[in-house]
Amino acid sequence: MRITFDGAAQTVTGSQHLFQINGSRLLVECGFYQGRRQESYDRNCNFPFDPTKIDAVILSHAHIDHSGNLPNLVKQGYQGQIYATPATAHLANIMLMDSGHIQEEDAEFVNKRKLKKGEPAIEPIYTREEAALVAQYFSPVKYDQTFEPVPGVRAKLVDAGHILGAGAVVLDINENGHQTRVWFSGDIGRRGLLLLRDPILPDWADTLIMECTYGDRPHQDPQQAYEELRQVVGRTLERKGKVIIPSFAVGRTQEIVYALHQMFEKHQLPSVPVYVDSPLAVNASDIFKMHPECFDEQTKAFIKADKHHAALGFDRLIYTRSVEESKALNHRKDPMIIISASGMAESGRILHHLRNNIGNRKNTILIVSWQAPYTLGRRLADRDKKVRIFGEEFEVKAEVVTIGGLSSHAGQNFLTEYAMQLKGKVKQMFLVHGEPKAAEALSEKLVQAGMEKPAYPKRGETVEITA
Ligand SMILES: [Zn+2]
Repeated sequence: MRITFDGAAQTVTGSQHLFQINGSRLLVECGFYQGRRQESYDRNCNFPFDPTKIDAVILSHAHIDHSGNLPNLVKQGYQGQIYATPATAHLANIMLMDSGHIQEEDAEFVNKRKLKKGEPAIEPIYTREEAALVAQYFSPVKYDQTFEPVPGVRAKLVDAGHILGAGAVVLDINENGHQTRVWFSGDIGRRGLLLLRDPILPDWADTLIMECTYGDRPHQDPQQAYEELRQVVGRTLERKGKVIIPSFAVGRTQEIVYALHQMFEKHQLPSVPVYVDSPLAVNASDIFKMHPECFDEQTKAFIKADKHHAALGFDRLIYTRSVEESKALNHRKDPMIIISASGMAESGRILHHLRNNIGNRKNTILIVSWQAPYTLGRRLADRDKKVRIFGEEFEVKAEVVTIGGLSSHAGQNFLTEYAMQLKGKVKQMFLVHGEPKAAEALSEKLVQAGMEKPAYPKRGETVEITA
């Protein structure tokens, strides 16, 4: 068997790993590479293999850096199955369509400039319509259900506790009568996240391929983050302000809605309207409601006991779909909570809400996820006194608060615990999906704990695995 690390190798983006087993080609992940514009364009449009020669695809979860290049794979001739949990398949469909829309807008923006310079126009990396074609290839498999993606491979997805439907990919491989197990972690979640079950730890494997996004950082306890959320929202509502939360549409939004729902039920917060104002977040919330099988026991018990019989629905929660509904919020003066995308405040409806509320000391802008450099979200998180929105300068008078403990990724301690399950059992280990600093710090921890130093393959590197 050979594994080629084609993406998320020595970086966190564009996850893509090619397995060659018994003469078949199995692709695990087909992620979108996000980096500088031209590099992203070239990488995403040109696969390092022939898409028509891939026999099967397994997808660990719906995040775009794992699923986002499936439209190109299909566009370039892939016609096999895409195995994923039912929730992942559902979420991926809406996220890919959204991504197609973004690619179209991006190409339009670039082409305006190219036109001025008399340069030829570019095509979008893929369109919304092309993204919609992926849906027909999904072959949903439940957690722990065994399937045979290619001859000689028995595969299953086990709960990764990262986002709805996320799984680790376990491959039991029989090659020429030799048996070997590969455990691909996908993105590893955390214990104690709202809605989701805790990640399943590996029991045994000959080969471990593991993510290391936060290999150099321990995380704060999620409970502490929820407590901070309660305090910030509480003091803002007390001074009759609005809480504006830029949030990723899938995952973080639903987690915050559920956290607020619990706080309202316990009368820890005064009852105010909560608006989820992002079409993708609204669609994603519908998909969450369709997949209660992914919820943890606490959430199931909450739903059973709750008067609304829902984790993501309560009297004063309003999902706004239309632009008119969204704009109507601009004229409201009463205290409220608005959760809107994009998560880094780069585009989308959140920009209107920030523009309208940033200049009022009563309000709070609440940052609930990591913000990439040079984004508006990062400028706010860095406490810039003035920011530009829609080309206009605004003084930041609203309170800005960052809650750091809400990551859906395992921190260093849990990553270590995850790998240590296989101490004395695993024959080879590869770190992927992490920057060099993170991989190095985690390697060091594992070596200190008595494990072999893991490999950290470069992009395009192929390794031979013998059973
Ligand atoms: Zn992820």
